[in-house]
Amino acid sequence: MRFRRPHLLGLAGLDAGEIGDLLDRAESSWEAAGTAGWRAKRTPAIARLSVVNLILEPSTRTRCSFEIAEERLGAEHLSVGNEGLSLIKGETLSDTGRTLQAMGVNVFVVRHPEVGAPARLADELPGAHVVNAGDGTGEHPTQGLLDLLVMRRRWGELEGRRIVIVGDVLHSRVARSAVHGFHALGGSATLCGPRHLLPEAVGWPGATVVEDLDGALEDADAVMTLRIQRERFVAGEAVPDRAAYRQKFGLTRERVERLREDTLVLHPGPFNRDVEIDGEVIDSGRTEVWTQVRAGVAVRMAVLSVLAEADPAPEKGP
Ligand code: ASP
Repeated sequence: MRFRRPHLLGLAGLDAGEIGDLLDRAESSWEAAGTAGWRAKRTPAIARLSVVNLILEPSTRTRCSFEIAEERLGAEHLSVGNEGLSLIKGETLSDTGRTLQAMGVNVFVVRHPEVGAPARLADELPGAHVVNAGDGTGEHPTQGLLDLLVMRRRWGELEGRRIVIVGDVLHSRVARSAVHGFHALGGSATLCGPRHLLPEAVGWPGATVVEDLDGALEDADAVMTLRIQRERFVAGEAVPDRAAYRQKFGLTRERVERLREDTLVLHPGPFNRDVEIDGEVIDSGRTEVWTQVRAGVAVRMAVLSVLAEADPAPEKGP
């Protein structure tokens, strides 16, 4: 099935056909994604878009790559963060959305600290398209897609592949989206980290949960390491000691040298060098981190152009 939804809120629930459709589109934007000043021939569908990126949490990669994707597609767009919005004067997100909609905005790219905020906005703004650009510990579907794109470019297909996701999985929307997407395409995930930063496998399809990283890495096809997302910890959750964490769960140079030569090394960024991954490993060129960033532009171009062709969510009856 092709992707024909009005919104992209998560990878949970998408089937292999829908994900493959988005990845095929992204593949066709690969050159554009890495080329300064590239401009698409503006299609009538894109010309009808007016995109606002509502970036209500810090963001470098996601925000910049959405903006670059919008620019290269030729879509009207602007970005605003908390500091520039009346949300800090007490306006609700929904009223902010309605205000922008009254100006003709019809696509909302939403990064928000609360799980479910983009989905709520999608319900409240009939006629608009909403893209989840990361909602708290919920999902980060465009990140999931870019990770899948990097793997698919390398392997052709993901069927039967095994990815190890190591670190603060509990607070990671990146991991959740990756696991749903990876599972839909026939792969399986091993989740690894300190016990208190690991979720139950329930709700993480096809995933197993382990604490021994070295065992998990044996024969892995890919490893994705995650930052300790301190800002998402709730009161009482213990933040691990950095040195002890690196020793047990860090992608140190020694660990990376023991990997199979063709094992992909991924990190969504931002990195904390010498904690979850050694700076030396990043600088050695052994990782896919910069390819992931480029894939981010390709995926965001794909998502926006697919949504431009999709029917918006219908207006609700009286
Ligand atoms: N950039 C990713 C996110 O927005 C990962 C991270 O913050 O560590 O979730």
